[in-house]
Amino acid sequence: MATRDIITIGHPTLRKKARKVTEFGPALRQLIDDMIETLRAAPGVGLAAPQVNISQRVVVVELPADKEEGTPAELYAFVNPEIVKTCREVEEGEEGCLSVPGYVGEVSRPTMAIIRGQDGYGKPQKVRAYDYLARIFQHEIDHLNGVLFIDRVTDPAKIRKITPEEAETATGEVAEALVLMEGEAVLMA
Ligand SMILES: [Zn+2]
Repeated sequence: MATRDIITIGHPTLRKKARKVTEFGPALRQLIDDMIETLRAAPGVGLAAPQVNISQRVVVVELPADKEEGTPAELYAFVNPEIVKTCREVEEGEEGCLSVPGYVGEVSRPTMAIIRGQDGYGKPQKVRAYDYLARIFQHEIDHLNGVLFIDRVTDPAKIRKITPEEAETATGEVAEALVLMEGEAVLMA
């Protein structure tokens, strides 16, 4: 495994519609492994292949363990993910992006999404994601379509620079990379 460089806003790959994966060979599984390592090193909660300059439909998501709830970390790797269903209920939440460093914004998204896709071997898989996890998946799948969270912020007043204290936490080496503010976690995805 190796980490790959994360490209940032202004790079054309971030704005391209990523290609569907048709070859389920060792190179794909290497990409997935590298993306997981890159995500953990960043650190962040989600990463899409275009963010490492690979225009293919691959995402990895890692929901951190919740000590209060006593739930373990959840790791997902999806090839050719598709949102097949969302609920009507939407919620606004603050998001950040490893490819848009230094900024966060309020984005409204459905609170439930069913995602279908394949694993690194081409085997079909499906997940029903709620709340935070649903938000991360929607953010990552947007990346595959050349969409960034800043495109979904409806009001420019709802986008802001992260504070130096938050930035320090966000770039720290600890696993608790999520910036906590007013009880809400900021996603770096
Ligand atoms: Zn992102």
